[in-house]
Amino acid sequence: MSAKTIEEPARRIPLYGEYEVAVLGGGPAGIATAVAAARAGRRTLLIERYGFLGGMGTAAGVTNFCGLHANVYGKMHRVVQGIASELLSRIDRIGGLNAPHLVLGKIFAQAYDTAAYKIAADDLLTAHRVDILFHAFGAGALMGDERRINALLVETKAGRQAVRAEIFIDCSGDGDLAAWAGAPFEVGDHNGHMLYPSMMFRLNGIDPAKAGEAWRTIPQLMDEAIAKGTHAFPRKGAIVRPQKSGIEWRVNFTQLKRTDGSAINGLEPDDLTRGEIDGRRQAIQAFEFLRTVPGFEKSYIVDLPPQLGIRETRRVIGSYQLSGEDVLSCATFDDSIGVNGWPMEVHVAGDVIFKFPPIPDSRGFNELPYRMLVPEGIDNLLVAGRCASMTHDGQSAARVSGACFAMGEAAGLAAALALSGNTLLRDIAIDKLQQALKREGAFIGRDQAVPQGL
Ligand SMILES: Cc1cc2nc3c(=O)[nH]c(=O)nc-3n(C[C@H](O)[C@H](O)[C@H](O)COP(=O)(O)OP(=O)(O)OC[C@H]3O[C@@H](n4cnc5c(N)ncnc54)[C@H](O)[C@@H]3O)c2cc1C
Repeated sequence: MSAKTIEEPARRIPLYGEYEVAVLGGGPAGIATAVAAARAGRRTLLIERYGFLGGMGTAAGVTNFCGLHANVYGKMHRVVQGIASELLSRIDRIGGLNAPHLVLGKIFAQAYDTAAYKIAADDLLTAHRVDILFHAFGAGALMGDERRINALLVETKAGRQAVRAEIFIDCSGDGDLAAWAGAPFEVGDHNGHMLYPSMMFRLNGIDPAKAGEAWRTIPQLMDEAIAKGTHAFPRKGAIVRPQKSGIEWRVNFTQLKRTDGSAINGLEPDDLTRGEIDGRRQAIQAFEFLRTVPGFEKSYIVDLPPQLGIRETRRVIGSYQLSGEDVLSCATFDDSIGVNGWPMEVHVAGDVIFKFPPIPDSRGFNELPYRMLVPEGIDNLLVAGRCASMTHDGQSAARVSGACFAMGEAAGLAAALALSGNTLLRDIAIDKLQQALKREGAFIGRDQAVPQGL
């Protein structure tokens, strides 16, 4: 970025609205946060830059929920419930949800249609009277004092506007609002290396009978293509799996890097521009290879999503950082507000490395402490989702949708509790939050029986 600057004159801007809770970002974390806060009776606004909800799940074409399930002593359970269950049943009702499928022989994931996700999420939020402001890009924070956000600035087609709220919840995935407010954050591992992004895409026109279980044979076909010198691939660990209709498959194949080999930085506009263009180029190269796979001969790219898939940018530092060790040891916390059953999934240069807790000898999930939602330094802000307080390793696991839904639901309820008790977010009674979560049908670990079924 250029070091040159120019001065913008001060100006008066319209106040869009005044709310009790304002949520920035409509991904899994933002959806659950907004519903939880509104259902607890709080006037809630969700602000989203796109014209639809779902975050990376729709905008980056992820089309697959991970982290809803855990492998508990060898048996699969759906451990993320609560608002996630309400969203899933709405997606299912309109025919957009697959049955869960096994990943790496150890854990379940569950695919969905992006159109169904968008419609179900609209329906869920409007049913709970969440006010939604689409096509509004959060662009800055006005501080009341150094510990309190007064207003969030948003850029819209009608120009710049301000949103005031008593409590703000940053579900932007990138910790945008937390950073503008001055909360501390980290980016990447000890060397600043972030998880690599990917450009997802979906193919249609596949012959399901002929393709069969091609996700098992594709890695070997890739090895053969490399040996023959016919194709080169940006990474190992390609995921090519069917959607609900077997003629359509999702492809998670690409990996986007800078010229120096490091990951594209999702906070840098020039990086993002390069990543989008290279991502589409890699998608075409992957498609050329996939058309050689039996059953894929007549396939075509039916969807390249609106944006490059970003796995990791800022991780806001809170009172506790969930670590990789917490994930692998299935850690327990007194202030647990939900659980994560997904393993570490580290997207390194050229590869994807999974690290599981001992399976089937462990309960297969870690608890998520409330403290990871409470940023240092700012009193009326919580952070939920992939930018919550985690180490680089911890985030590689708990960034997936399941844990983001769990964090969001807790953040929304915590905001409502702080407002009703007139307490700071960091001082709310954790036992009250835990009871409220259980009443709403969430599973938080602790003394609760593991939910049965999928
Ligand atoms: C390629 C790829 C594959 C993945 N595969 C899986 C998978 O199979 N299963 C799984 O569960 N997870 C997967 N993940 C991870 C998962 O999708 C994300 O980590 C998860 O969606 C994070 O949820 P979130 O709500 O924290 O943030 P996000 O999903 O990133 O949502 C943030 C939302 O905030 C909005 N926003 C951001 N900044 C602003 C702003 N300044 N103003 C207004 N709006 C803003 C965005 O538009 C977005 O809607 C994958 C991720 C990627 C990139």
